[in-house]
Amino acid sequence: MTDSLTIALSKGRILDETLPLLAAAGIEPLDNPRISRKLIFATNQSHIRLVIIRAADVPTFVEFGAADLGVSGKDVLMEHDGDLFELLDLGIARCRLMVAEPAEMAANDNPANWSRLRIATKYVHITRRFFATKGVQTEIIKLYGSMELAPLVGLADRIVDLVDTGNTLKANNLVEVEHIADISSWLVGNTASMKLKHELMQSTVAAIAAVLDEK
Ligand code: AMP
Repeated sequence: MTDSLTIALSKGRILDETLPLLAAAGIEPLDNPRISRKLIFATNQSHIRLVIIRAADVPTFVEFGAADLGVSGKDVLMEHDGDLFELLDLGIARCRLMVAEPAEMAANDNPANWSRLRIATKYVHITRRFFATKGVQTEIIKLYGSMELAPLVGLADRIVDLVDTGNTLKANNLVEVEHIADISSWLVGNTASMKLKHELMQSTVAAIAAVLDEK
């Protein structure tokens, strides 16, 4: 179907901050995705629908064309590392991806001297790539959440996680020691859709870009 568009979003911060952007660009779901358990939402534009999926699945849906457009955190995109277009930095859900360690360890630690690290994270690929370029060997322990707990119970020395206010690290006596990347959410597009649905994709992206320009 070259005359319709599917946009993939995920619940939580991305949905909360993307819906007003889409509304300002003239795209409004007919039901409220924040409270409905539906997964597919028709919009006021009959040729545009939204699908609501897990954040980590957005790049997969877009890469394989199950969605033409999607909104995904840069952290998720870096970890996925797939073939899709990064179209617009939406500037939402801003935070940073950091290496953190216990405060008492940081007092006598110099990242320049790191040679071998044991790191707990859900960002296995990003962490491996980041330290490989620095020539630091890593043993990476994959977790799905509560990374901050790992150094406190001896599972790992350090963690790689998103930091916003820093309150979560502070509450667990951890400090930031290395910056990996600044993170925000991006509008991404399927590469084939960019060609096959060129006009529709361009006009939708332009409408969202115009909203960002007004901010
Ligand atoms: P904070 O205490 O404000 O530094 O937030 C840190 C916690 O919130 C960590 O558990 C992070 O994984 C999570 N977090 C912070 N910013 C984001 C974001 N933009 N998207 C998803 N999770 C985030």
